Amino acid sequence: MEECIFCKIISKDITASIVYEDERMIAFSDINPQAPVHILLIPKEHFPSLNEIPEDKKDILSHILLKAKEIAREKEIADRGYRIVLNTARESGQEVLHIHFHLLGGRQMSWPPG
Ligand code: AMP
Ligand code: ZN
Repeated sequence: MEECIFCKIISKDITASIVYEDERMIAFSDINPQAPVHILLIPKEHFPSLNEIPEDKKDILSHILLKAKEIAREKEIADRGYRIVLNTARESGQEVLHIHFHLLGGRQMSWPPG
């Protein structure tokens, strides 16, 4: 998607602080971090949100989640605890319409979320 900011990060038209990349996904630091560790993990294929992920693409979700677990370990937040957030559509507060998981950690989280 030409106008999608996360597709531009994938194509390297916009720079980001990339934490991990492979043929299917990329992870990079959030530009406006809400915790000491705040990393976004996205598939390279453009889907606006979880609502648009078809059954035959479900493997990308587990791939990203397990990579989030590895990154949490590398960032030394795995044992302390971390939160993975997947905002979906308007009332969740999703602003960028390219599906992305937030990996947040390094501070005490509260519940319920705002
Ligand atoms: P959401 O509200 O779930 O759509 O989250 C979008 C996230 O993308 C926010 O946390 C933003 O800070 C982050 N973001 C937006 N533009 C960029 C960018 N160019 N590089 C890194 N993170 C970004
Ligand atoms: Zn995109």
